[in-house]
Amino acid sequence: MSKLLIGGELVDSSSKEAYEVRNPATGEVVDRAAKGNAKDVVQAIDAAETAFKEWSDVTAEDRGKMLNNACELIKEKSKEIAQLLTQEQGKTLFEANLEIHHLLHGLEFYAGLASKVRGSHVPLPQKNAYGMVVRQPIGVCGGIIPWNFPLTLMGTKLGPALAAGNTIIVKPASTTPLATLLCIEQIQKATYGEGKQQKTLPKGAVNVVTGPGSTVGEELLSNPRIRRIAFTGSTDIGRHVMEVAGREIKRVTLELGGSDPMIVMDDANVDLAVKMADVGRFFNCGQMCLGVKRLFLHESIADKFVGALAELLKKKTVGNGMNKESRMGPLHMDYQRKEVEEQVEDAKSRGAKTIVGGERPNGKDLDSGFFYLPTLLTDVPDDARITTEECFGPALPVYKFKDLDEAIEKANSSVFGLGSSIWTRNMVHANKAIDRLQAGNVWVNSLHYGYDELPFGGVKASGVGREHGPEALDYYLEPKGVVIVNA
Ligand code: NDP
Repeated sequence: MSKLLIGGELVDSSSKEAYEVRNPATGEVVDRAAKGNAKDVVQAIDAAETAFKEWSDVTAEDRGKMLNNACELIKEKSKEIAQLLTQEQGKTLFEANLEIHHLLHGLEFYAGLASKVRGSHVPLPQKNAYGMVVRQPIGVCGGIIPWNFPLTLMGTKLGPALAAGNTIIVKPASTTPLATLLCIEQIQKATYGEGKQQKTLPKGAVNVVTGPGSTVGEELLSNPRIRRIAFTGSTDIGRHVMEVAGREIKRVTLELGGSDPMIVMDDANVDLAVKMADVGRFFNCGQMCLGVKRLFLHESIADKFVGALAELLKKKTVGNGMNKESRMGPLHMDYQRKEVEEQVEDAKSRGAKTIVGGERPNGKDLDSGFFYLPTLLTDVPDDARITTEECFGPALPVYKFKDLDEAIEKANSSVFGLGSSIWTRNMVHANKAIDRLQAGNVWVNSLHYGYDELPFGGVKASGVGREHGPEALDYYLEPKGVVIVNA
């Protein structure tokens, strides 16, 4: 049974309760996980506060060394971590390994940045005086993680938090606690310093409390001793997070849902765009915040594009992520498959045509999992649910447009504003899209991918604040203004 990690120890929940974690591909129990509660969170806060005193005093260079060592320890366990991730989440082993690769790249990025934090020297109008801005860690942070990328989205919080000298309590999604716990167990063992000076990350610098959002999550939000909340998840829960954490004046970042437009002009490299539309929508069974969720095609290339994409999708093998031949696993939960099915049916009832998929696959091994075929829809009206809502699964609606102005207007008509892309060889088109698309990120002729080097986040209902990049560190550091007078 998987436990809680509090103060460096693996412990049961104070209630001794546990729950089953099931495999979305088979329905089988993968393991049982400790069902944490508010009391467990309070214990984790005690441990994290104690660890903060020591960790915030460690040199920035040593903090970076610790993160690099943590990566080595995770690598040693990566096979086991990947298998657990596939079993609890449903993604293919290939995707699980890519996720670990991305996690490590992100942690290494913040390991490198730890010692690069700068303050500033500020001239003041007063004589014989100057100002300084020093940047200090905040204290105990809370990271609330969704189930679609449990490891990378944990890393985008834990990496900058530790690099900046904070300590952290991680709450994984209830359905994906196992790989996260195994990863953070390795991080807790990480060391820094040489020989006799070698030290281990203070116990309690990283803690994991698994359990329901309604208890574990709520305590993280409302407990005033947690000074910063990093949340990734749905827009509805994000609103709630901001309200509750706001009452305690906490620093909050929200990485929420999206409905990314991909705009393909008539002068684009169509072959490349077809391949990237496939990856951009159907990787991770379409369960990506920044996935291609609305495909806008110039009317002169639309039919050719749809035909080529349909051929790719027909060849995609859907199956248990543990099988080598599987290219797309199941959806993570049954209710979520039902939601995608309802969105597809709604579009069809309003006149959309199904080019590929639109149903569950046949096959005895597939009946016990939450599988759904990759689905391509054309003639989708602007008021269809799949157009106006986030579709968090393997279904892609296609829209035709006459010129770029029309495409941008439609792209911006969403309540979301996370990612977006334009596919063109015309710099005038590219620059117009970069300028006008209402989104936190714009990719030009490139896959919707969250590079660790660039700030990542949303506008409108897609969130507040940024993860990734040096910008993310700003959210884990408190600037303190200092005035020094020569007297
Ligand atoms: P949810 O919002 O349902 O859950 C996210 C996390 O919040 C889970 O750990 C959940 O716990 C927790 N939670 C639930 N209720 C509360 C509460 N009252 N207080 C505190 N925490 C709570 O999202 P999903 O897991 O369904 O994730 C999918 C969503 O995440 C999609 O909308 C997707 O677009 C978005 N997302 C955004 C990304 C971005 O960077 N912008 C990246 C990836 C996903 P529990 O599991 O126990 O309910």
